Amino acid sequence: MNCLEKRIVKDGIVKEGNVLKVDSFINHQMDIELFNEMGAEWKRRFEGKNINKILTIEASGIGIACVAAQHFGVPVVFAKKSKSINLEGEMYVAEVVSFTHKITNQVIVAKKFLDENDHVLIIDDFLANGCALQGLIQIVHSAGATVEGIGIAVEKGFQSGGRMIRNLGFQLESLAIIESMDASTGEIVFG
Ligand code: 5GP
Repeated sequence: MNCLEKRIVKDGIVKEGNVLKVDSFINHQMDIELFNEMGAEWKRRFEGKNINKILTIEASGIGIACVAAQHFGVPVVFAKKSKSINLEGEMYVAEVVSFTHKITNQVIVAKKFLDENDHVLIIDDFLANGCALQGLIQIVHSAGATVEGIGIAVEKGFQSGGRMIRNLGFQLESLAIIESMDASTGEIVFG
């Protein structure tokens, strides 16, 4: 078991509805030493890739992405969630259905921060059905930029996102892949 998996077993809480709460070390209080080890591991897994920018989505991706970025020596751009509709022109826009909140957000990135010269590593905290990643990939492609890889902290392998993203041919590196989890017993099994 790696350090993230150990921490999930120790402090993660399995909720009804296939939700894993990781508030005490990722989503609310953040364990920066753990983030640092995750960043080092992504750096190792994406060795040799030409990455000049990290893209994530607010809010929970930002902390992880910023610590990871120190290992890559690149800036972080985060997609903003927005309800405003009149943004065409200066912004790349994608629609993302939120797994945890069951609402649709527009996510936006200013065109000045992403263009065809960019080689992007996408980072996020969770992968469930893959909607957030699809939105981020769409934004990178709208910019004419290249997705060099995708780093995820926790992939719920029993949901469809991981398979879909790998089938599209992306290098997807999830640091913990949960095969099953049980809200009644709290048991978590990794793949
Ligand atoms: P997807 O778009 O892949 O269905 O879901 C990914 C997004 O939903 C992530 O950005 C994350 O914020 C949130 N998410 C999905 N599943 C979980 C979960 O089990 N626990 C937490 N805390 N967030 C989740």
